Amino acid sequence: MKNFKQISERLKQIATYIDSDMCFADIGSDHAYLPSYICLQKPTVQAIAGEVSKGPYERAKQTVEENELTDRIQVRLGNGLEVIEQDEVDAIVIAGMGGGLIASILKDGAHKLEHITRIIAQPNTNGYIVRKTLHELGFIPIKEQIMEENNHIYEMIVAEREENHPLDEKQYMFGPLLLQEKSPTFIKKWTKERDKVLYILNQMNKSTEKDVEKINQYEKTLRWIEEVIR
Ligand code: SAM
Repeated sequence: MKNFKQISERLKQIATYIDSDMCFADIGSDHAYLPSYICLQKPTVQAIAGEVSKGPYERAKQTVEENELTDRIQVRLGNGLEVIEQDEVDAIVIAGMGGGLIASILKDGAHKLEHITRIIAQPNTNGYIVRKTLHELGFIPIKEQIMEENNHIYEMIVAEREENHPLDEKQYMFGPLLLQEKSPTFIKKWTKERDKVLYILNQMNKSTEKDVEKINQYEKTLRWIEEVIR
């Protein structure tokens, strides 16, 4: 196995959400470590590695070639879900990006989701917008994971199709399943977030021109966090 010294626990965890009979697309694949690792672990998986940038696209092709996986992983250059056809894959992974970007990739490619049974999202920021977008597209979290690696806390959302399942704003923000579990890592993340919000509020309140609407919004966020980590 070549080039796998760098594979992170984060990517290994994401790999567990791909079943052995799946064909999946890894959007924003960079080195294609994730699809290569999965295909080497699970000999019946097929994958598409999508990349919008030329450099990472070339790196992805190199990893796939070095691991002799060209018959199972297709590397494609393109923006978001434009690299997949309507019924080509069962699952989509979008990992290691900001939540806003993940949400816009999903929204822009909404017409490609008809045959998708599972979406695995790992936003580096703003899980709220990812869960809200998934919900609007008819997907709800069936599994959520929070983990820490190299001083970063990562959230993973495994979503499957379920229409008419209500989720509220608080569940978008904290994750419905993470909220039930309240693991030590979850408490650590939200304690840090509370400190950030307190700092921002402090700065905003010191300002001569106060943005009352924004202050109210941050105060609401603070109340929610304090209720949850209490
Ligand atoms: N998914 C890998 C991971 O989790 O380790 C790589 C994450 S890397 C930080 C983000 C990658 O997404 C970059 O290689 C970037 O070029 C790619 N990317 C950003 N926007 C994209 C888009 N709209 N469509 C496809 N790829 C995109």
